Amino acid sequence: MLEDKDRIFTNVYGFQPWNLDAARKRGDWDDTKALMARGQDAIIEEIKASGLRGRGGAGFPTGMKWSFMPKNPDPKRPNFLVVNADESEPGSCKDREIIRHDPHKLVEGALIAGFAMRCRAAYIYIRGEFIFEAKVLEAAVQEAYDAGLIGKNACGSGFDFDIFVHRGAGAYICGEETAMLESLEGKKGQPRLKPPFPAGAGLYGCPTTVNNVESIAVAPTILRRGAAWFKSFGRENNAGTKLFQISGHVNCPCVVEEAMSIPFRELIDKHAGGIRGGWDNLLAVIPGGSSVPLVPAAQIMDAPMDFDGLKDLQSGLGTAAVIVMDKSTDVVKAIARISYFYKHESCGQCTPCREGTGWMWRVMERLVTGEASVEEIDQLWDVTKQVEGHTICALGDAAAWPIQGLIRHYRPELERRIAERAAGSAPILEAAE
Ligand code: SF4
Repeated sequence: MLEDKDRIFTNVYGFQPWNLDAARKRGDWDDTKALMARGQDAIIEEIKASGLRGRGGAGFPTGMKWSFMPKNPDPKRPNFLVVNADESEPGSCKDREIIRHDPHKLVEGALIAGFAMRCRAAYIYIRGEFIFEAKVLEAAVQEAYDAGLIGKNACGSGFDFDIFVHRGAGAYICGEETAMLESLEGKKGQPRLKPPFPAGAGLYGCPTTVNNVESIAVAPTILRRGAAWFKSFGRENNAGTKLFQISGHVNCPCVVEEAMSIPFRELIDKHAGGIRGGWDNLLAVIPGGSSVPLVPAAQIMDAPMDFDGLKDLQSGLGTAAVIVMDKSTDVVKAIARISYFYKHESCGQCTPCREGTGWMWRVMERLVTGEASVEEIDQLWDVTKQVEGHTICALGDAAAWPIQGLIRHYRPELERRIAERAAGSAPILEAAE
């Protein structure tokens, strides 16, 4: 288990104030000028060496992403950093806690990352529903301006850097990086075709890197403590500490920072008070937010909670939003509800997603009540494969994968419902939505 001294987020529960004075006492903004004096390339190399992978779900190596940005930007086409604080994936609630209780970690991280990538400014795109958090973040940014930590000659480094907080308007799809850029530009938030990738042509057509809040907020601590320190947690290719968000049928739902690769059972026992009704009562787990396939209890017990460990189980770490379901859960109804979410949030610009999410949801509703036929289970599987990988952005995959997980692990339950309904013995369940 991670010891308190190894935690990056020491105020995630808000026991101390979020303001600049308190943040300084926690070690933030401690001689940031000296960190910057190491030079842009040295900072990027340190982040690369730490093994940090993006904490927003995709897990792309952060240092490598930073290295894609132009090293001699054209003043007429400056580099930009965009911080993705749109956190709308069901189950995910870590970025909210960082912004609410430790916003200076994000503000300082944005300066460091922006400096390393030679950015003119950072735009922090915060979910519209995070009204309180947006106020805290705007106040923290103003504190940093007032103290000379950002703005002209940030921290006395000679580097000019602005930070803008931009509030979203409630669309899940604006968490997709190119839809976020469209939204920042004042357009309808719809994903762009790639290429070009944002590092070539992003915000206002300028080179841009989009990073998750947690990825940016951990950067100053990694630089202060060193890449080797960060890499000492977890295992090869899965390094560092991570904020896990544990919800559902546990005794004590929480957001907690732990070492990557901690076994699932240890994570739940130590931080969430175990499973409601005991471990025998565990049915299944969605380990990384609603877009990754569920994993049945027997398979996940001893699994390392990291990118590779969960990929081996045909699931994923995602945002590390761990949704626990005990045996009281109607697992078919739960996945049908997730299907409705993706149908509702599809931006509608590509056909497999626009038509497929609605089609999949309607079949899922028929599976909840047992009205579907056995053949429809195979058709549904085929449709998920037609949607997966055939859309402009990953929302299509996110809609297909939970259904694939359900059919992979719970086909007998689907067939049982259909058979009982046909025999007239099944209760008529309400549809999920
Ligand atoms: Fe829009 Fe869905 Fe296509 Fe993404 S996959 S661009 S959300 S229609």
